[in-house]
Amino acid sequence: MITPRRTRLIRVPDLHAFRRVISHVSDRPGAIVVVPNRAAARQLARNLSRSPAGVLVLSRDELYDELHSRLRGPRRLTTYEREAIAQAAAVHAAQAAPDLPFRVRPGLVSEMIKFYDQLRRQSQAVERFGELIEEAIGGETPGDRGAERLLQQTRFIAQAFSEYEARARASGGFDEHLLRARLIEVALSPPARHIVVTVADWIADPDGLFVADFDLLARMPGVETIDIVSTDATLASGFHERLHEWLPGLDESTDVTAAPSRPSLTVPAGAPPEQPWFTRRDREEELIGVARRYAPEGSHDAAGQVLLPLGDLVTTAVVYKRPLPYLYLAPATLGAAGIEYDTADTLPLAAEPTAAAVDLLLDAVESGFSRESLVAMLRSPHLRIVDPPPSAAGISAFDRGLSEKRYLGDPVRLEQLVAVWHDDAARDAAQAALAITRRLMPLGGKAPASASLGRLASLLAELWRPLVADDHFAIRDQRARAAVAEVVEALRAAHATYHDPEWTFADAAGAVRRSIEASTFAAAPLEERAAPRVFLLDDQAARYGSFDDVIVVGLIENEWPEAGVRNIFYPPALLKALGWPSERDRHAAAEARFLDLVASAARSTALSTFTLEDEALVTRSALLDEVRLSTTVEEPAAPVPVFDADALLREPPNLDHLGPEPREWAALRVSRPSADRPEFHGVSGPPPKPRVWSVSGIETYLDCPFKFFARYVLKLDEEPEDEEVMDPRRQGQFVHAVFEDFFRAWQESGQGAITPANLDEARGLFESVVDRQLEAATFSEAEAGLERTRLLGSPAASGLGEAVFRMEAERPVPVVERLLEYAVDGNLTVNTPGGVRTVALRGKADRLDLLDDGTFRLIDYKLGWPPDRGRALQLPLYALFAEQRLDSHRGRRYVLGEAAYLAFKGPRRVVPLFSSPAQRADVMSKAQERLSAALDAIGRGEFPPTPDDVYRCESCSFAAVCRKDYVDS
Ligand code: SF4
Repeated sequence: MITPRRTRLIRVPDLHAFRRVISHVSDRPGAIVVVPNRAAARQLARNLSRSPAGVLVLSRDELYDELHSRLRGPRRLTTYEREAIAQAAAVHAAQAAPDLPFRVRPGLVSEMIKFYDQLRRQSQAVERFGELIEEAIGGETPGDRGAERLLQQTRFIAQAFSEYEARARASGGFDEHLLRARLIEVALSPPARHIVVTVADWIADPDGLFVADFDLLARMPGVETIDIVSTDATLASGFHERLHEWLPGLDESTDVTAAPSRPSLTVPAGAPPEQPWFTRRDREEELIGVARRYAPEGSHDAAGQVLLPLGDLVTTAVVYKRPLPYLYLAPATLGAAGIEYDTADTLPLAAEPTAAAVDLLLDAVESGFSRESLVAMLRSPHLRIVDPPPSAAGISAFDRGLSEKRYLGDPVRLEQLVAVWHDDAARDAAQAALAITRRLMPLGGKAPASASLGRLASLLAELWRPLVADDHFAIRDQRARAAVAEVVEALRAAHATYHDPEWTFADAAGAVRRSIEASTFAAAPLEERAAPRVFLLDDQAARYGSFDDVIVVGLIENEWPEAGVRNIFYPPALLKALGWPSERDRHAAAEARFLDLVASAARSTALSTFTLEDEALVTRSALLDEVRLSTTVEEPAAPVPVFDADALLREPPNLDHLGPEPREWAALRVSRPSADRPEFHGVSGPPPKPRVWSVSGIETYLDCPFKFFARYVLKLDEEPEDEEVMDPRRQGQFVHAVFEDFFRAWQESGQGAITPANLDEARGLFESVVDRQLEAATFSEAEAGLERTRLLGSPAASGLGEAVFRMEAERPVPVVERLLEYAVDGNLTVNTPGGVRTVALRGKADRLDLLDDGTFRLIDYKLGWPPDRGRALQLPLYALFAEQRLDSHRGRRYVLGEAAYLAFKGPRRVVPLFSSPAQRADVMSKAQERLSAALDAIGRGEFPPTPDDVYRCESCSFAAVCRKDYVDS
């Protein structure tokens, strides 16, 4: 029987009223207030300080835990147990569906259980789910393969869900859904008399309640009052309509106790009116901006700690969508500025360095002990593989050595390589790599899930580096190791009890990763925190705190609002039939919540976006355009010392408050020139002595001067990359060697030009050259096969050789001599707008054919796409050099007749450099101008990071050492 209750919706105009009303309606002892997460609960607790004792502020999950504890019923199933039960159910269902078009992997089951929870929370029964999907597809659809697959999948999923429900019931434990059913039947002790819902539904609020939750509140015995508090904006986004549908007869009232209050929007000085926000370089600069704002000059205490000025005790919320980057940046920015700040309680366990070390082990076994994974394990400060550990220099030498030996990750090959390792510097590292490989190898085979997880747990326990008492991170590492061990053990126990199939290592690794990713970790016990004035909060929690200032950070696309989570089983149209929200509803709610948030401060709001994330450009959020608040301009303050490094900003610099080591470094810095000077922005000044540059080097300069500087002046090594397929440079060298070998052999055979008559002989010779070169090369079988097909072709497409031969055979003028790998080395006379000049160059033209009519044809092999005519440098300059050198070759003068790329990518194989005399003149003169300008800039030592296309940065090997000055900060 449903006991009578009062269900009331209290509409509030904004978040100021939202907090006030929640505080007011939660004034009954024993009230339960539902909030989105723990951080929100903590903020609300600050507001509820005058509320009676016994008020519980709980998230949705905590609400279920609380209700379960009052039921005093059977225990709840853990997440690991549910997954194990679901895996057993899915395997059983799959046996009844032999034609299933996919394999039932644990990762898939994990998604299935999320889908099941979502369905049940939306009050869909399993039987009805199958019917709804079949109706939406349109029943049996003979001949439509896609629809048939969907139906087959739906029957399998429905069967697996039914099986799961039967097994969960048989386990004697409760999952959330069994618990909900019981809560409707049985009275709680004590009953939950008054429930205050401050979250919206799951459509408007990622941590909101579901239909089934509202249904539970409406039917649970003993409930007397339900108060739902929501802002007008959230209700207008569609929540109001849905609420009335789920809770017919809902009372409504509106809070009108105070006039709406709106903060002003702080905008940077000089910002255009249509862009009233701060644009920073990256997330770190966003927090540095916050630190500078709240740590004004003169607020250092005697110990050099920054204090907020007395009498101006503002509380500030820094609000983000993605917590991790900000939580990790906070110590080095807000912390370094001496600002007391508070962060959310928990961090993902997966983000702890300890969890990253677990990932290294998993990755090593999964990758077959690849070079990268071995080196990462040797370098990890969390693992102790051998004692003493190999030196950093030794590990680097080992890394390079493996790369040079083309080691692609095979324990047998590693044994062979280490047995004959000659490099003394890397020997210790090689032995350590072999030792860890031998220890981890037994994990690689198939084993029962529980045995596999048990073995991994013992290996982890053995491999952790011993912690030492004076290690600053020891306590945290210890807790993280215990949390990881707990996760692996819970997983092992669940599989030992409910489902213990034979697992490959990939299955075990996937299960461990998923479980760690789903776990959280309290970074620091609460008592370690001091009274904060700056709070780092997610946007859910920020709604519950009263702050003078709110700074919303990270306002970029796909974050504000967050991109929707894709369902892997069904497209949106079918999910609609199951009650899934549309993207439009989700967006409308996200915008409403954002606008509530920006108006929630007592004093001011500031909005911040940034331009660079992981070295790539990002786009600002479109929500920024929706903000309508009166503005206040933040006048740029004179630079004041906030961070230790700011001691350098004073004139003269004051280093007194720095510790001995920072002071020493700062003194060194002070002795150097100002950071604004050109030498800190890519200008090195003229080199001590002029050098002769290669044409390809100058092309790199034109791509990006700083890249040229890093590669050719600093001579920085590029990170080696292990690819199954050869890297482009090695591939290029091989292709060049094959063609050089072929044409030399062809020339020596006295054949002369390639003509339609001798094409078959050319093909035969080419094939034997390719096979000879492949035999001499140290390629893997896969690489050799690929190269052979690329050069000789396949039944589907002709090879590179064919393109080269046809090009020559189709031309009427015979070749009289070929100059292969023609060296361009010496002075070149070029015409520039400033007059004629002589420059020294080096390079190598792939092929130069001297023709019977006194012209020459220049050929350049391009493994990729040919360069754009306007950017081409190599072919025009090689042509110019050849013309200047071949004016009396064997008593004859040769002039440029044709120049072409033999491009191995793109729509055409043969791409001429010019196709008319006018085009030729244009290409040649532009190349000389570009060469001259680049050489002048190199001579002046100008190497700014100015790529010709910013997307070049995404694949640049030197991104880590480049500050990308071109990006606005
Ligand atoms: S990251 Fe971009 S700007 Fe920096 S060197 Fe590379 S290409 Fe140039």
